Amino acid sequence: QLADLNTLVSLSKRRGFVFQSSEIYGGLGSCWDYGPLGSLMKLNVKRAWWNAMTRRPDIVGLDAAILMHPTVWKASGHVDGFSDPLVDCKDCKTRFRADNTDSYINEKKCPNCGSKNLSEERNFNLMFKTHMGPLEDSASVVYLRPETAQGHFVNFQNCQQASRYKIPFGIAAIGKSFRNEITPGNFIFRTREFEQMEMQYFVKPGTDEQYFNEWKETRMKFYLKYGLKKENIRYKDHDKLAHYARAAVDVEFKFPMGFSELEGIHNRSDFDLTQHSKFSGKNLEYFDEANKEKYIPYVIETAVGCDRLFLAFMCDAYREEVTTDEAGKEDVRVVMGLHPEIAPYKVAVLPLSKKEELTSIADKLRDQLAEDMDVTYDETASIGKRYRRQDEIGTPFCVTVDFETINDQAVTVRHRDTMVQERIPMSQLNGYIAGKLKN
Ligand code: ATP
Repeated sequence: QLADLNTLVSLSKRRGFVFQSSEIYGGLGSCWDYGPLGSLMKLNVKRAWWNAMTRRPDIVGLDAAILMHPTVWKASGHVDGFSDPLVDCKDCKTRFRADNTDSYINEKKCPNCGSKNLSEERNFNLMFKTHMGPLEDSASVVYLRPETAQGHFVNFQNCQQASRYKIPFGIAAIGKSFRNEITPGNFIFRTREFEQMEMQYFVKPGTDEQYFNEWKETRMKFYLKYGLKKENIRYKDHDKLAHYARAAVDVEFKFPMGFSELEGIHNRSDFDLTQHSKFSGKNLEYFDEANKEKYIPYVIETAVGCDRLFLAFMCDAYREEVTTDEAGKEDVRVVMGLHPEIAPYKVAVLPLSKKEELTSIADKLRDQLAEDMDVTYDETASIGKRYRRQDEIGTPFCVTVDFETINDQAVTVRHRDTMVQERIPMSQLNGYIAGKLKN
């Protein structure tokens, strides 16, 4: 991989993918804002995942509230168990996680200054707490959800009855989650506010292993389809399983700092629905009409961070090509080779000159394309420079309106990756590009 994190952070800021939150106030730690291009691209990432999930005959969508009844988090185990062990260095005041800091695990040393003058480990709950209503007392405590999955579990019966789907079926959702991480960082890889894309697949006990394996494969195919490179993505089995889990695997991606978790795929057994039955007093058993039997379904979960996937796509898309012009001068072409469905803009309209006779056609063409896709327009600087600007943000097609266009009502379409150019009639352009995006 070519892209280091600094390259991506600075390109993101310069071109409007990602900005630091509250930058004019000096920024807020580990919070990021998605800019004009980033917000478009993030929607595309979510749409790709959402369509892959909900355009199947066996998965329904859900958009649950971030705030939930506080007992949900008791039932799920988060109030008592969702914590990381934290250690403070008494010399340099660094605070770090005990369970993933190598210098501490191996030598009981501070990762920052090497001191051994450290505090005891203490458990730190990662949930953000706030209060509902005007009274800030213990009865009004609510949490910002640390995962979206609990919305799926508490709506299991609602979704099943409303859709009349039979098991096996799934519930998919995209939404913000919050974790008061001790050591966030690596740009948008680990933040305290992030977006998750989770799907819970409810199955009959005994069929869980089969569906766990199917989902492992399905999710890998998704990543390869959208452009992650085979050599940069792998499965990693968990060494230790959570007490309720029957199987767990991470899909790891080779980020600039090394292979790290992108997605978790878990066989959660009947733990979640059993817990919610117990705590709510509602019977969450499923009645299988065909076999006249009742059971609490098992759950296969796939959970990926949208922000992490956004970063993974950027890492694998970024490339620098050395080109030589006719005079023998070397130049570097930066290309964000994003999958066309993920790229912020599908097409850029570039009039060859700022003369009204061309810009009036280009304006109309922009509007025509915008009916079907995200399009950008640029009339400043040389055409070569404008192509480069689009390459750097991943626009798959550039369309040049030139003086010929006035006579032949056609434009030159230039392909990002091959730089091949074709002449296409304007009346056919929407269909032509839409067709290419699908390939
Ligand atoms: P990690 O070990 O990296 O903390 P996790 O195993 O706690 O992650 P899960 O609870 O399985 O994560 O969450 C599912 C997915 O949500 C993760 O694979 C990751 O893509 C994303 N995610 C989790 N925590 C964060 C975070 N703080 N910032 C960004 N994305 C996150």
